[in-house]
Amino acid sequence: MSSQGCSLLGCGVDDDDDREFDLDDYEGSVARWCRGCGDHAVLTAVERLLTAAQLPPEDTLFVSGIGCASRFPHYLKTYGFHGIHGRALPVATGAKMRRPDLHVFVVMGDGDCCSIGAGHWIHAIRYNMDMVVMLLDNGIYGLTKNQTSPTTPKAFPSNTQPRGSYLDPIDPMSATLGVTNASFVAQTADWVPAHLYATLEAAQAHRGFSFVRVLQRCPQFSARIFEELVRQPDRIELLVHPDGVRVPALESIYKNVREHDPSDLDAARQLAASGERFRLGVLFHDPSKPRLEETRQQRSLTAQQKIERLNEELDRYAV
Ligand code: SF4
Repeated sequence: MSSQGCSLLGCGVDDDDDREFDLDDYEGSVARWCRGCGDHAVLTAVERLLTAAQLPPEDTLFVSGIGCASRFPHYLKTYGFHGIHGRALPVATGAKMRRPDLHVFVVMGDGDCCSIGAGHWIHAIRYNMDMVVMLLDNGIYGLTKNQTSPTTPKAFPSNTQPRGSYLDPIDPMSATLGVTNASFVAQTADWVPAHLYATLEAAQAHRGFSFVRVLQRCPQFSARIFEELVRQPDRIELLVHPDGVRVPALESIYKNVREHDPSDLDAARQLAASGERFRLGVLFHDPSKPRLEETRQQRSLTAQQKIERLNEELDRYAV
């Protein structure tokens, strides 16, 4: 069935609890990413998640910046905002502030989030507003055809640094875990669809800023970064816990399995900082962290209170 009303614009919604949404209600235009691009897998997982969660399309918003991954909103039938480079998070936080009832998703690439958008990223983590934030990290600027990004591994060549990236990359997991009020931090990979889905499901269930870094293959420009990880499961470690993500079927493929309590922030930071393996799972989860939209709401004034405050202020200038 198709969506009804236009809740986002507040112009009349049919609140029909009997509606059932299927994949058709979320699938937008045909995705134009390259063949083999990891973005396709993320889109599939997201469409599945929206269907399973039965999120009304008219109450769901996808916000993106600029980059290959940022074409995401075009491929869904929810509301979408394909914004400007690095500014997905300010748009999403503004929408959530005004309409806390919306289901907000943000899709960013590594250049988008960790370079030009890094300032917004840091503050959005601290605001801890309820949204699912996906960093589709392919370690390169793909849309503009192969430039070094903040997450490009050291010595990996690109058009801008043909002899290899000069510096060690930013680690998005350590960076996120280092910010005050981080509440949900997870990592997954596009080529492990069961894990990808389970992680997004956990992120969507969390009330707060759910940050999910998806290791995302770009066969055009950074295939080498992920080839080894795909071919050598021993380089990956699954983090499992009843409060995290567990996909038992994967434990016969990935022999390195670690029980990790996601409430332990120090342990999460140590795991993120240790580069011995790539960890997939929920590194940190604290549902008790305050959310900006909630705390603001609690302090917001009624219309009558606003008038009284305004009159008090004006009275100060009475002569
Ligand atoms: Fe995907 Fe890379 Fe193609 Fe962009 S350039 S669509 S990231 S494969």
